[in-house]
Amino acid sequence: MLRKLLNAPDHLSSWNKLMRRAYWAISLVSALAVLTTWAVVSNDESSHTQSFFEKQVVVRNILILGTLLAAEIIYRLKSRLQDYIIIMLGSCFGAITLALSPPEVQGTQIVMILPILVSILHFNYGKVLFSCFIAMITYLFVLNLVPDYRYGVPIYQKAVGFSFLIIVTLAVLGIVNRGLQMMRDEKHAFRNEKKHRILQQAVQEASSLDALTGLANHKTFQERLRIMLADEEERPLYLAIIDIDNFKSVNDTYGHAVGDTVLRKVGKLIRDRTQEGGSPSRYGGEEFTIIFTRMNAKAVVECLDRLRAETEQLQFPEMEGRKVTISIGCHKHQANESRDILFQLADEALYSAKRNGKNRISW
Ligand code: GH3
Ligand code: MG
Ligand code: MG
Repeated sequence: MLRKLLNAPDHLSSWNKLMRRAYWAISLVSALAVLTTWAVVSNDESSHTQSFFEKQVVVRNILILGTLLAAEIIYRLKSRLQDYIIIMLGSCFGAITLALSPPEVQGTQIVMILPILVSILHFNYGKVLFSCFIAMITYLFVLNLVPDYRYGVPIYQKAVGFSFLIIVTLAVLGIVNRGLQMMRDEKHAFRNEKKHRILQQAVQEASSLDALTGLANHKTFQERLRIMLADEEERPLYLAIIDIDNFKSVNDTYGHAVGDTVLRKVGKLIRDRTQEGGSPSRYGGEEFTIIFTRMNAKAVVECLDRLRAETEQLQFPEMEGRKVTISIGCHKHQANESRDILFQLADEALYSAKRNGKNRISW
């Protein structure tokens, strides 16, 4: 809520709108108050009463109306300094109200603190200090330029007025400080939560993916197969086991690092070729699996044969042009076949492919 208030300029401009409405409301109430006062003193037909009425009702209301109209025009100009202008208008509004009220009316000075209080809405030290400065200046103007105040208000009362403005400003600065502190705390908590989420995601990925190839690992494969077998809608379902041919000799001849490069490249090829269908994983060692669901036999054969042919085309400069081939065993899941049986049948098909000369697919 606090962050929303501080970050959304729309919100602030709607606060500005609210303030303008408040100024209208206050001026209407004060006009009403003046009229009521006039009703009380109207029996007195002295010229003093007449001039009081003219000053209070006519001049005061014209000035306040003019100020409010200026605020409306400026508000509609959508100036970037809008907030400062509204603060200044608030002070002018207060000063006019004060200047045209008789100094004997107790507590009228309170209107001078209105813009300072309103500046809380901006949660900005600069705007609070600006509103205090403007309030002081306008108050100073009233005290020096309005004869009733210049001569009619004792110096100690003027000092109290200024002290009051300073005290209110300090209180407002305290509130803004507390608000900003709360906002910082909230931001901090939000950042920590985000960090925690990223860490959690990383841990989850690390435990579900194979570090070398980035494919799903053995555990994830078993979990996926279990879920897919339990869902009748994931039919037909094919399980393919892929084994790199003569991989031990790659390790023995070129070292494990080159063996790892082969695993990475074959793994990437498997991932790329199963983008349109199939769920690949590294089962372990140089063995991979792909679960195909909701794909017909023709599409599965095409995918696997393309994979086999493209593996043969992979280039390994580290192995002086030596080719890598894969053998694949594939089995279509039949009703009532358990996970173990399904795997066993696909594995048997793989061994048949090995027995029949490798670099082939067996069913
Ligand atoms: P076949 O054609 O019958 O499949 O023979 P093969 O040599 O591929 O099979 P074998 O099971 O004899 O060898 C598999 C080798 O894979 C043995 C093991 O050292 C190696 N291997 C397993 N995991 C990794 C790995 O993460 N990195 C590397 N570089 N080698 C691995
Ligand atoms: Mg093997
Ligand atoms: Mg092998």
